[in-house]
Amino acid sequence: MEEREVTQRTQKRKDIRSMDYEQLQQEMAALGEKPFRAKQLYQWMHEKLAGSFEEMTNLPKSFREKLKEQYDYTVLTLEDRLISGIDGTEKYLFGLEDGNVIESVLMRYHHGNSVCISSQVGCRMGCRFCASTLGGLTRQLRPSEMLEQIYEIQKISGERVSNLVLMGTGEPLDNYDNLLQFLKLLTDEHGLHISQRNVTVSTCGIVENMRRLADEKLQITLALSLHASSQEKRKELMPIAFKYEIHDVLDACRYYFEQTGRRITFEYSLVGGVNDSDKDARDLATLIGDINCHVNLIPVNPIKERSFVQPYREVIEAFKNKLEKNHINVTIRREMGRDIGGACGQLRKSYIDAKGRDAQE
Ligand code: SAH
Repeated sequence: MEEREVTQRTQKRKDIRSMDYEQLQQEMAALGEKPFRAKQLYQWMHEKLAGSFEEMTNLPKSFREKLKEQYDYTVLTLEDRLISGIDGTEKYLFGLEDGNVIESVLMRYHHGNSVCISSQVGCRMGCRFCASTLGGLTRQLRPSEMLEQIYEIQKISGERVSNLVLMGTGEPLDNYDNLLQFLKLLTDEHGLHISQRNVTVSTCGIVENMRRLADEKLQITLALSLHASSQEKRKELMPIAFKYEIHDVLDACRYYFEQTGRRITFEYSLVGGVNDSDKDARDLATLIGDINCHVNLIPVNPIKERSFVQPYREVIEAFKNKLEKNHINVTIRREMGRDIGGACGQLRKSYIDAKGRDAQE
């Protein structure tokens, strides 16, 4: 008996919450269960957001036992929750089954609630100003682990989430297949049914996967982290630029627009004295002038491991004005949850650093 317990625990079981409806139907058929069980299960997992098989009270106990034996049921545990006194933004730190932690954010806007989720544990892209990448990539997140961030936030906050941005830790297009499956489940009419138009995937520019995503012809928004007005400057901030030339990245953006009709968002983190000059603004306008796009300026959020600073407010405004004069749509990103602070990935990092100190003591 004891031996059986151990093998069951170490054996990697199938992740049932990452399965779409068709896959679930096949699984139930293979188990010899009636087809309607797939529907019931799917409802419990993705509509009623059950926290375990036990909660699925209209399923026979023997069936629940069988499910428990055969499958992993992904749930995240809440490790920490910080709520901003300024704008109600909430930062969540979630624990995964293997002991890793990830970060997600709930932002309240007048058009609805938006959640920012992580797509990987850590990141290997190495952008110079980003805290999420300092410890490298630990592992990919499964579709269920991406979904659960939103499910848990809905359950804990008691509020409906209508918009989603993949702008937390990780590079979504470096976890492509899981991302696609996640998007399928998220936008499914029998799940949370979030509209594709309310989803934004942000990438540092992995060209072949931007093109693959374009070919999927989804209605999601693609945000490209551009951050520089030339190939040379981009290399200084983003190691990925050594792999992909800026013009190839922009061509992939043009292709995305052609295939989907969706306007591209360019993210441009403004770093004082690095990419915020008048010439940078002019060069940027030339570079993207022909693309149907929107530029989101993000005053860099300084992290203690790097010496980057925000430009002065007048410099940011001047940069914006210059782009506008060149007929480019532009906004300055509003800083949310300033008092619960820190840049993306910093809550997770401070947690890991503290744990490391505990372990040493
Ligand atoms: N891997 C994805 C998502 C990253 S986070 C990507 O590269 O797009 C979302 C955005 O925040 C990206 O544009 C990223 O470059 C930017 N960012 C990360 N850390 C930042 C910081 N400290 N200050 C300003 N922008 C930052």
